[in-house]
Amino acid sequence: MIDSLMDKIVSLCKRRGFIFQGSEIYGGLANTWDYGPYGVELKNNLKKAWWKACVYERNDIFGMDTAILMNPKVWQASGHAENFFDLKSDCKICKKRFKTLDLKNKGICPECAGELTESRPFNLMFKTHQGPVEDASNTIYMRPETAQGIFVNFLNILDSKHPKLPFGLAQIGKSSRNEITPGNFTFRTREFEQMEIEYFCRPLDSDKIYASWVEERFNWYLNLGVKKENLRKREHAKDELAHYAKACTDLEYNFPFGWSELEGIANRADFDLKQHTKFSGKELVYFDDQKKEKFYPYIIEPSGGVDRTVLAVLVDAYYEEMVKEDMRVVLKLNKELAPTKVAVLPLLRNRPEIVELAKKIAQDLKKSIITAYDDTGAIGKLYRRQDEVGTLYCVTVDVQTLEDKQVTVRSRDTMAQERISVDKLKEYLTKQLD
Ligand code: ATP
Repeated sequence: MIDSLMDKIVSLCKRRGFIFQGSEIYGGLANTWDYGPYGVELKNNLKKAWWKACVYERNDIFGMDTAILMNPKVWQASGHAENFFDLKSDCKICKKRFKTLDLKNKGICPECAGELTESRPFNLMFKTHQGPVEDASNTIYMRPETAQGIFVNFLNILDSKHPKLPFGLAQIGKSSRNEITPGNFTFRTREFEQMEIEYFCRPLDSDKIYASWVEERFNWYLNLGVKKENLRKREHAKDELAHYAKACTDLEYNFPFGWSELEGIANRADFDLKQHTKFSGKELVYFDDQKKEKFYPYIIEPSGGVDRTVLAVLVDAYYEEMVKEDMRVVLKLNKELAPTKVAVLPLLRNRPEIVELAKKIAQDLKKSIITAYDDTGAIGKLYRRQDEVGTLYCVTVDVQTLEDKQVTVRSRDTMAQERISVDKLKEYLTKQLD
């Protein structure tokens, strides 16, 4: 049977240590995933790239990191307590649960053809209890989005940073949703990471700013190396908009399982600040010094998923290429995202002088470049391993190196090899990786 692209990605992730099934030795916990050594680097590089573009390279956006557990009133104000649900139907025979929206035949179980219950609302927030007493007064929720942590700090930011409109607050953090039908590997899980910006602006400017964020975020994915033909914008129809939103555009990626959302950019108008004002009794308004008037800013929210983007870049970067008689699998991740930039490999692992020199070169590179050292196989195998995890350059130390003090540098994408002198190596690689 020919494996689908998705199967190949899942298998590569496990084989090479990007992503593992959660709690695997206990039979797993459905739809939980653990990031391994390469996965965590890829994920961190992605988050760094986002933070660089959205915080460091701008003067108008500041970072935050807010608590996952929040006062339950937050979810009343945000509407999550009342509106954040999916309709579900349960099978009376096999007891499986389905999202009503996904059902082709509303009353019949797609798995065993048993009768389904009437569809009922199912709140997607995970409930828990704060403190040792488990009663209703101690019920709290795992946040289903990071955004609310930003809204409730609006006054703290005004008082501490004194920003002028328009300005934004950015946050990367975990969110949880008790999804009825998680799946497609890490695409839809119950615990995931979000990268969110809440961008505050004057109501009159909001349409223009919303449109410019859609472009800005689309281009960010292109700069990450995502192929243009695999990325599209999808504007929500009026009847599809969330109750608070004035406009919303999804950025979608062409996953092997179809076009699906990577990020949503919404014009949330003044809904959030007004709601939190109403529920907290604190006035979440902006004071215009010149006009001497206060008002509720509008909020533009670009909200993306870390895990979904990691999956998209993995799919996008996956290539199978015939090299002579052999097939090589290579991840052509861009240089910002590649977990390891350089690998130093001794050609002969039974020659101590070669091994020693290779280790020394690797150690020296490690000070400024993410470098791996590997001597656990023949060179062909070592190259293949590095190609599969997207390492940009392999540096090989051979017998000749001992005499001419030069190493072979092999490029991941072209497989072209160059001899570079050891004392120029760091400079050469730094330039390539710049
Ligand atoms: P969907 O329609 O796919 O359920 P959503 O529109 O509910 O997503 P948002 O509430 O806009 O998603 O959340 C912003 C981003 O957070 C999404 O674009 C996605 O990247 C990410 N995200 C949301 N839910 C999940 C999930 N269950 N698993 C992984 N990522 C998620």
